[in-house]
Amino acid sequence: MTISLDQIRAIARQYHPASVEFARDIVAIPSLPGHESDVAAAIINEMTQLSFDEVWTDQAGNVIGKINGAEGPAIILNGHMDHVDAGLLESWPYPPFDAHIIDGELWGRGTVDMKGPVACMIYAASFYKQMGLTPPGDIYVTIAVMEEIGGLGSQYLASQLNAQAAICGEPSNNTLRRGHRGRVELNVEFEGQSAHASVPHLGINPHYGAAAFLQALPTIPLASDAVLGSSTVAPTLYQTDQISPNVIPGTVHLTLDWRNVPTESPEAIVAKANQVLQTCLKDSAAAANVQASIAVTRKEFVTYTGMVHDFPSIFPSFLLPQDHPMLQAAQRALIEALGRDDGVSVWRFATDGGHLMAAGIPTVGFGPGDDALAHTNRERISLLQMEEALTGYLALTQALFQSA
Ligand SMILES: [Zn+2]
Repeated sequence: MTISLDQIRAIARQYHPASVEFARDIVAIPSLPGHESDVAAAIINEMTQLSFDEVWTDQAGNVIGKINGAEGPAIILNGHMDHVDAGLLESWPYPPFDAHIIDGELWGRGTVDMKGPVACMIYAASFYKQMGLTPPGDIYVTIAVMEEIGGLGSQYLASQLNAQAAICGEPSNNTLRRGHRGRVELNVEFEGQSAHASVPHLGINPHYGAAAFLQALPTIPLASDAVLGSSTVAPTLYQTDQISPNVIPGTVHLTLDWRNVPTESPEAIVAKANQVLQTCLKDSAAAANVQASIAVTRKEFVTYTGMVHDFPSIFPSFLLPQDHPMLQAAQRALIEALGRDDGVSVWRFATDGGHLMAAGIPTVGFGPGDDALAHTNRERISLLQMEEALTGYLALTQALFQSA
C-alpha cells in the first residue's frame, strides 16, 4: 500500500508538534553510553502509545519497535539514543538538558545527534498505524545504545535482525548520504626500561621511541577514494605508566585515530603502520632498544542491561554505489517529496550505517539537522527540518520497499 505525497505532508503537519514534544522529553533525559536505561524506557513508552505492533529491548538494551507489514522486504530505520558528554554546562548558551526552543530551534545535547532525528523516525514509521495502513513489509525502528563509543549496539542489532534495506538517520540537513570513511583506533605501545631519572643511562626511555614514530607518522602512505577523499591519521592520546616526574617510565601508550576509506582494511592499516614503526625504531639511535607494537584497540564494554562485550574500536567505512537501485530510488523519492534535488553526498564522520552495511544490509543516510553542530556546545536542531524529515523518512521508506 503506497501513500500519496499529499497524505504524507498532511499527516506530517498534524503530528509534527507531538514529535517535537517527544524530542524535548528525551533530550531532557541524559543518556551517556552505558547509561541509557531511562531514555530507553521513554522511547518504549512512546512507541507503545503510537501503536507499534511490537516493542522490545534486546540483550544489549537497544529498543526495537516493529510495525508488521505484508510479505515484502523488511526495512530498518536506525538511530541511537546515547550522546557525547555535555562538557562544561556553563559554556552552553542554554542549559544542555533543558530542551529550550529558541527561534525555531530545539537546543541541547543530543538534539541533532540524534534525538531529534530519532523522534522523527519513530513518528514517521507510526504514520502507517495512524492511517490504518499495512506497509508492504515489516518496519523495524531500531534505537541503539553506545553509538558514540564504537557502535556496539547497532553491531549487535545487525547480527540479530533480518532486513533487506536500512536508513541511517544521522543528521544530514535532510539530504541523502551514501557512506563515510571508517574509524579504526590503534594503540601503539612503546616498551623501555624504567630507571631513576638522575641516571638515564641505566634505563631505556620509551619516549624516544614514540618521538621517532611521531616524526615518521606523516610519511605513512594513505589510501584514497574518489568520493570519500583520503584516509587520515591523527595521534590523539598519550599516556605513560608513571605519575612521578622523576622516573623514566617503562611504557608509553600512544593512541592513533585512523579514518580509513573502504579499500584500506584494519589489517592493512596495522601492517603498514607497523612497518614504519619498526623501521623508524631501527634507524633512530636515541630509540635503540625500545620495543614497540601496534594493534587495534580492544575495550570491554558493559551495556546498561549488563551485557559485557569485548569490542574492537572499529567503525566500518561504507560507500553505497551511486548506481545502486536503492540509492537511485531514494534520490527520486526525495526530489519528489521535498521538491528539490540536493544530490547525494557522504558524511565526514563515522556512523552505525557502517555496521549495518557490514552485516550485508544496503543502507542510505538521511536525517534532519546540521551535522556540523554535533558534539559542540551550540548543538541544536531546526524544527522546520524536523517537520520536513517526517515527510522525508516516510517517502524514503516507501522508496526502499519498492526497490529493496
Ligand atoms: Zn550520532
